[in-house]
Amino acid sequence: MSARRSEKPAKESSPAVTLNIEWLSDCAGCHVAIVDLHEKILTVLQSVSIQRCPVLTDIKDYPKATVGIVSGAIRTEHDRHAAEAMRKSCDLIIAMGSCAVYGGIAGAGNVHTREEIFDAVYANNKTTIPGATPKAMVSPLEATVTPLDSVIDVDLYLPGCAPHPAFIFDGLLALLEGRTPKATKETVCSRCKRAMEKTDVERILKISEGIADPDRCFLSQGYICMGSVTLDRCMSPCPQNGVTCTGCAGATMQVLTEPNRDIRTEIGERMAKLTKIPKDTIIREIERTSKSHYSYTMATSMIGEKPTFLIKKWIGNAEADYE
Ligand code: SF4
Ligand code: SF4
Ligand code: SF4
Repeated sequence: MSARRSEKPAKESSPAVTLNIEWLSDCAGCHVAIVDLHEKILTVLQSVSIQRCPVLTDIKDYPKATVGIVSGAIRTEHDRHAAEAMRKSCDLIIAMGSCAVYGGIAGAGNVHTREEIFDAVYANNKTTIPGATPKAMVSPLEATVTPLDSVIDVDLYLPGCAPHPAFIFDGLLALLEGRTPKATKETVCSRCKRAMEKTDVERILKISEGIADPDRCFLSQGYICMGSVTLDRCMSPCPQNGVTCTGCAGATMQVLTEPNRDIRTEIGERMAKLTKIPKDTIIREIERTSKSHYSYTMATSMIGEKPTFLIKKWIGNAEADYE
């Protein structure tokens, strides 16, 4: 049966909430995590109209928006200007991913000067032409990598590398519904099924050594796992799939906020109680590999300015031992 002429189709109303998305220095993994919302993205799209989004829309400017999602760290002058434009155009800003929240893995660059980085990447790299350092059309590097809130105010932090889609979904819904997100303060260990047991292990193992028992905590077996000092924003996939946690979702609130609590001493104490490895040996090993163990969070002042964080000294000691 055809519709009568007098019956006009219902007028579709546009969603009241508008969204701008921007990425700074990052790997784009956080944008893939948004796509990983799968059909849940339809729930979000019923209430949200996406305007600016580098992977979806060809809009270069910054229209006025209710919510802005920013991923990535501040590494270049372009990052700084883009972050400021997002803050001016959006009522609320979400820092999404460990790069935006803590500086992320690019923060490991803070152990080196800009000149050292350019030297390693261009001048002394066998795959580049000597002297071919790009100068035109490249935004200058800032002196250091910093998190988003070093440049603009942030309303909601969603750490994780990338954050699990469940946390992204809840964060977006919470903003739309005007409530606090359900994020907990639990650690990666809280979801890990491995048993922490006392063992006679006397030596720290590399993850490539031996075959780890799938039911026993990595620490009990001599492998350094950062689950106990890392916030669960990922649903703990690594230890449940045979890989140690490297702390990519960032440190727990206790480690971040208490000046004398530190990643290496927390893990050292726990692992020494579970094994026969002395605490000082564990701490020295974490210091020796500190560029890996602190890489995701060292660019935030909460870790980088701790009185206990002496990474240049630790790296110097490790290099002296090596020589
Ligand atoms: S937080 Fe991780 S996934 Fe997200 S942009 Fe940074 S490196 Fe990529
Ligand atoms: S330290 Fe690692 S392996 Fe042990 S319980 Fe925590 S997450 Fe699991
Ligand atoms: S490394 Fe740790 S924090 Fe990162 S995804 Fe794996 S379990 Fe989660």
